[in-house]
Amino acid sequence: MITKHQIVQWLQDFATQIEQNKDYLTELDAAIGDADHGINMDRGFKKVMSQLPSVADKDIGSILKSVSMTLISSVGGASGPLYGTFFLRASTVAVDKQQLTDEEIVSLLQSGLDGLLQRGKAQLGDKTMVDVLSPSVDAFAQAVGEGKDTLAAMQQAVVAAEQAMKDTIPMLAKKGRASYLGERSVGHQDPGATSAYLMLKCLLATLEKAG
Ligand code: ADP
Ligand code: MG
Repeated sequence: MITKHQIVQWLQDFATQIEQNKDYLTELDAAIGDADHGINMDRGFKKVMSQLPSVADKDIGSILKSVSMTLISSVGGASGPLYGTFFLRASTVAVDKQQLTDEEIVSLLQSGLDGLLQRGKAQLGDKTMVDVLSPSVDAFAQAVGEGKDTLAAMQQAVVAAEQAMKDTIPMLAKKGRASYLGERSVGHQDPGATSAYLMLKCLLATLEKAG
């Protein structure tokens, strides 16, 4: 189970982590992109933070929808619309909800991922954020299916996410700017996969605080 209060904490935590890792994410993007992923994400999540107080007393669906609209409108680059779509589709599962069961968290993550896949058309192995999100959402769903509690399931998801993030290093990029580099994209960790890992790590940190 996760409460609205925890969802808000998660977003705050993620905004802080993005700020702290802004240079790191930008360096990763300098190697295989245009050196702006940290800048893009930080701009977006600073905006999200400034708008959060005006929606924090609404339901989880409204909060996530507001995050989505802010990211889509304020983040240039591929990652804004992609994360925006993730949060938009996730929000549809949380309409009028003040808390979510583990099964609802599974649907929320899966809907978000489905939206992102439809929007970005990346496949597994294309060296994008999908390479982190897909195996970790699967790991979370599987753990919930096995009867694990939210915290234990998210721990498994984050273990999967960390490995998946590192697994993007040898991949050849087939989507986004990094794909323009062809073979030269090999040997670098994908920036979007890294921010996606941070997003899940923050969700785990929020659950740990409550536990
Ligand atoms: P841009 O590439 O426009 O400069 P960012 O630097 O903010 O945007 O984000 C780059 C990240 O976006 C990549 O590291 C990758 O993970 C992700 N990405 C790019 N294209 C796609 C796509 N089609 N599907 C999923 N993720 C993508
Ligand atoms: Mg970039």
